[in-house]
Amino acid sequence: MNTNGNWPISREDFSWWRECQPASFYNRNDDLVRGLAFYCRDKGRLAAYQDRLVRFGASAGTDINEAAETSNRPNNLPSVQSFSRGRDYIQQVRYDSSYHAIGSMLYGTGVMSLFSTPADNVIAMAFLHLLSLNGEAGHACPFACTAGLIKAMNALGTAEQKQRHLPNLLQTDYDKLYHAAQYLAESRGGSDVGANVTIAEQDPDREGKWLITGEKWFCSNVTAQVAVLTARPVGAIEGTRGLGLFLLPQRGPEGFANGIEIVRLKDKLGTRSLATAEILLKRVKAEALGPVDRGFKNMMKYLVNTSRLCNCLFASGAAQRACLTAELYADHRTAFGKRLSKFPLVRYMLGLMKAKSMAILSASLCLARMLDDLESASSDSTVTDRLYRVLLNLSKYRASVLARETVLAGIECLGGNGTIDNFSILPRLLRDCIVYETWEGAHNVLIAQTYRDFRKESTIGLTFDYLESAFRAATAPELDGVTFRALRLLESLRRRLMIELEADEPEPSWGFRTAAGVLADLFFLSRMCAEADWEAQAGLTDRQDSVKTFWDHIRSSARASRPLPNPI
Ligand SMILES: Cc1cc2nc3c(=O)[nH]c(=O)nc-3n(C[C@H](O)[C@H](O)[C@H](O)COP(=O)(O)OP(=O)(O)OC[C@H]3O[C@@H](n4cnc5c(N)ncnc54)[C@H](O)[C@@H]3O)c2cc1C
Repeated sequence: MNTNGNWPISREDFSWWRECQPASFYNRNDDLVRGLAFYCRDKGRLAAYQDRLVRFGASAGTDINEAAETSNRPNNLPSVQSFSRGRDYIQQVRYDSSYHAIGSMLYGTGVMSLFSTPADNVIAMAFLHLLSLNGEAGHACPFACTAGLIKAMNALGTAEQKQRHLPNLLQTDYDKLYHAAQYLAESRGGSDVGANVTIAEQDPDREGKWLITGEKWFCSNVTAQVAVLTARPVGAIEGTRGLGLFLLPQRGPEGFANGIEIVRLKDKLGTRSLATAEILLKRVKAEALGPVDRGFKNMMKYLVNTSRLCNCLFASGAAQRACLTAELYADHRTAFGKRLSKFPLVRYMLGLMKAKSMAILSASLCLARMLDDLESASSDSTVTDRLYRVLLNLSKYRASVLARETVLAGIECLGGNGTIDNFSILPRLLRDCIVYETWEGAHNVLIAQTYRDFRKESTIGLTFDYLESAFRAATAPELDGVTFRALRLLESLRRRLMIELEADEPEPSWGFRTAAGVLADLFFLSRMCAEADWEAQAGLTDRQDSVKTFWDHIRSSARASRPLPNPI
């Protein structure tokens, strides 16, 4: 007891923590604002969307932030309700109102129309990045699936299909909007989609239409009005080449269509506000989307690749939020009489987090720009489909890993409070990030695809040439030390990967995976250098420290990734 007769209880109420949270995720977001200015092809388009980005950034920092936290509470998670009405058995998925509030704010921006015009991906991805500062929030995955279907519909749909579906998919009124879902994975395989056994048979009662029977094991956004799925037409060959792509109008106002049964919702580690189900399909009415014999290729090109790009933005949002959260905490919290941010160890951690977050966002926006160039068949672009695919797959892998590392470092910066679910978003972000690492392609699967791509059609040369010219083009004197050493590392990496490829093994080794990881990080670095170089011309040099920090990170990963003796 002290001299006043009180117990010496010092209890910090952390009101400063609530008060210092940002009111907007867009204003003063230099990485995003400058990235948009750098990567956007059409500055007029960007200017036209400026107000919406500002407004959405403010919602994302406040109302969406709050709604995402509310919808993720255990009692508010989606649940299935099944009941009988007359002779009908009806299933409905119930969401908390906070989930729908996010949907209204997101789709009210009109962002989906950006997927209907070619070459607007950079701006669309800015909206997704802002949303993803709140984690998956039950809406990032549906956004990606719907974006993919809009692209697929524009490319493959018949005039009648476009007329019937596009207005619904592009709705800005959330209550009328149609969402899409994508069902590939079955219990037999998520990566090995060619092993899938769901079948499609011609509908005897509807000429040219199909009936689908089988099970789908991971059905995210299961409440979507339309699902796109892979199924094997009866009699088609085995493997991925025998898969067709089908459109399944799966839900009307009364619930799910006849023949669709939700077995259960998954009890997931992360992305818990999103309803992911196991479903059974019993002769459910469907129609083909595009030529049936090109189903798998079209699924990859329009749907999975869109989702992989979106996944990079999920990661950029998570990493940037972790960074922001840790910086705010370290600027306000004191230990041993000093602000945490004054300790060199904390400063180093924050610097590395910032560098990784910037790296992911730069690479993601660059990929969106590449897609813009591909979609507009720009003659001044050196990007090809093959180069884009390699960089996209490598980026999906590394962006998700770097984001998870950044969030984990953020948790460490907040000490004990970092581990507490209702103190900050970080525990939820970590859970979401672990899911980002697996869905849309597990690491090994993306590495194996890159290995196959490098073994054919000189894709490896294309990739290294692209990176080399990016480093050579960044001529700002302040970057010289980094670009010069990056070029040397690139050269030794090329030799290392060539040795791996010349071994001519059917499957990649761990050595290939680690080297490919360093290659991905060099792609990220090349983008940071390009942006920093461009900014240096305008006298801005504040992001060069991050470039150097990310280079240090690559150098140590490259050392750590030297091939080890085979442990087997
Ligand atoms: C929360 C969540 C939601 C999802 N939502 C959907 C959805 O809406 N629609 C959908 O279609 N899918 C969805 N998925 C499924 C997801 O895409 C798969 O989980 C993923 O593709 C991996 O497939 P798998 O789970 O069958 O793992 P497996 O393919 O069995 O992989 C297991 C392990 O083996 C490794 N492996 C597999 N193949 C190879 C190889 N060739 N070389 C080396 N290693 C290999 C993998 O890297 C992994 O480490 C979702 C998954 C999750 C976690």
